[in-house]
Amino acid sequence: MRRVDRRRVERLRRRVIAMGVSFASGALVATLLTDRLERTPMQAEPAAIATTGSSSPTVAPRAAAIEAARLSTADAIGVLAGRDLEIPVQGVKATDLHDTFNDARALGRRHDAIDIMAPRGTEVLAVDDGTIAKLFTSKAGGLTIYQFDPTETFSYYYAHLDRYAVGLAEYQRVRRGQLLGYVGSTGNASETAPHLHFAIARLDTDRSWWKGDPINPYPLLAK
Ligand SMILES: [Zn+2]
Repeated sequence: MRRVDRRRVERLRRRVIAMGVSFASGALVATLLTDRLERTPMQAEPAAIATTGSSSPTVAPRAAAIEAARLSTADAIGVLAGRDLEIPVQGVKATDLHDTFNDARALGRRHDAIDIMAPRGTEVLAVDDGTIAKLFTSKAGGLTIYQFDPTETFSYYYAHLDRYAVGLAEYQRVRRGQLLGYVGSTGNASETAPHLHFAIARLDTDRSWWKGDPINPYPLLAK
């Protein structure tokens, strides 16, 4: 091997090692972050922002999500109002809904969601088109679904489910009105008061399913 080639090979080798180190440290940071999230104590009431889990790969246009993340909260609500969201419990009318978004919950937290009372086994429907971002079981929320909207700007959170619709899977695309699961009382819901805990969050630019700014679903559903 000529001297100049050896030098080139040596440069390449160093670059590969540097990339490896940088990748490994990235993975370490990701692991530490995940670990920190998993250690966050559980909330008494399920929130749109879960406190455990790991990130999920997603598919919709990143540019659209980043652009939407720059919207003010008022503008984001305007975007959602234009979606004509479906009431997520079969047979429930707009006039049946109650605004419990600002209700106090344990540990001084705000509810950040609405509870839609319905008999156990009532069908839970997708409020919008989108993708199933995560099927998650937590102590507070019980059996839950995190759905992203088609632009991956918002997440829709359905909690206390009795069970999922047959075949429901992560990364599956769903349509507005599609059956997702059934009302129940899993997690910290009362056995005698089955209901759907439903929340909306505006996702952060990294589109992690467990993070985001809560948006009150009530005015968007009770229209
Ligand atoms: Zn609730």
